[in-house]
Amino acid sequence: MRPFAYVSAPDVATALHAIATESDAKFLGGGTNLVDLMREGVEAPGTVVDVTRLPLKEIEELPGGGVRIGALVRNSHLAADRLIRTRYPVLAQAVLTGASAQLRNMATVGGNLLQRTRCPYFYDGATACNKRAPGSGCDAIGGFNPNHGILGVSGSCIATHPSDLCVALAALDARPWRAREAERILRGAPATEETFREAAEAELAPATSRPQNAFKIELARRTLVDTLWRLCVEGSAA
Ligand SMILES: Cc1cc2nc3c(=O)[nH]c(=O)nc-3n(C[C@H](O)[C@H](O)[C@H](O)COP(=O)(O)OP(=O)(O)OC[C@H]3O[C@@H](n4cnc5c(N)ncnc54)[C@H](O)[C@@H]3O)c2cc1C
Ligand code: SF4
Repeated sequence: MRPFAYVSAPDVATALHAIATESDAKFLGGGTNLVDLMREGVEAPGTVVDVTRLPLKEIEELPGGGVRIGALVRNSHLAADRLIRTRYPVLAQAVLTGASAQLRNMATVGGNLLQRTRCPYFYDGATACNKRAPGSGCDAIGGFNPNHGILGVSGSCIATHPSDLCVALAALDARPWRAREAERILRGAPATEETFREAAEAELAPATSRPQNAFKIELARRTLVDTLWRLCVEGSAA
C-alpha cells in the first residue's frame, strides 16, 4: 500500500485549493474507478481529495429549457429522475446499460465522464500500454481487442472511451461524431435502403479494424441503415 493524504473537502474552494496546490492530487467521487486503479498501482495520487460532501448533487431545470446535472449526482439517481426520464430518456438508458446496480448507486456523473479507459491492458502492469506507460507500446493492437475502437484510433492506442453516459451526452450536445461522408451522400438523395447503405459504406470506409473487432464495422453499417429507416418511418407517421 502506498501512503497518500486524504482531504474531505467541505466546500468547492477547499477542493480547488487542494487540487491546485498538490501536483499529484486526484478528486475522489464514488471511487469505483479511482480506487480500483490505486489498488492495481496504475494510479498513485499523493493526495486524494474527496468531493462527495460538495453541494453538486442537484438536477436542475434551467429557464432556457435546458437542464444542469451536478457532478456528484449518483448514476442511479440520474437514471431514476423524472425530468431526465421524460425529457432526456437516452441519458437514463445509457446509465442503465452500464455496470451493475451497486456500482451505479456509488458512481457519480463526474466520475463516470472522467473514468479511465476500460482497456484490460491499461489495468495490467505486466503488459505494454502507451496510455499507462507512454512509449511502452500497445499490447491491445495484436492482442485481445474485440471491445476496442475502429474509428478515431491511432497506431499507438486503440482504446475506446469507457463512458456510456459520455456517448449519450455527446449526442445531445453540439459535438457528436459528425458523419460528414454519410451526410454528403444523403443530402438531396431519395430515402431508400440503397442510399442508406451507400452512406454507411462511405462513412465507415476509413474504419481500421483488427480480426477480433472487425464485426463492429458491419454492426455499425447495419445500425446506421436501420436507424435511418426508423427515422423515415417515424417521420412519415408523425
Ligand atoms: C465492473 C464494472 C463495470 C462497469 N461498466 C460500465 C459500463 O458498462 N458503462 C459505463 O459507462 N461505465 C462502466 N463502469 C465504470 C463506472 O461507471 C465508473 O467506475 C464510475 O462511473 C466512476 O464514477 P465514480 O464517481 O466512482 O468515479 P471515481 O472512481 O471516484 O473517479 C473516476 C475519475 O474521475 C475523477 N473525478 C471524479 N469526480 C470528479 C469531479 N467531480 N470532478 C473532476 N474529476 C472527478 C477522479 O479523479 C478519477 O480520475 C464500470 C465499472 C466497473 C467496476
Ligand atoms: S489500447 Fe493499447 S495503449 Fe490504449 S489503453 Fe489499451 S493497451 Fe494501452
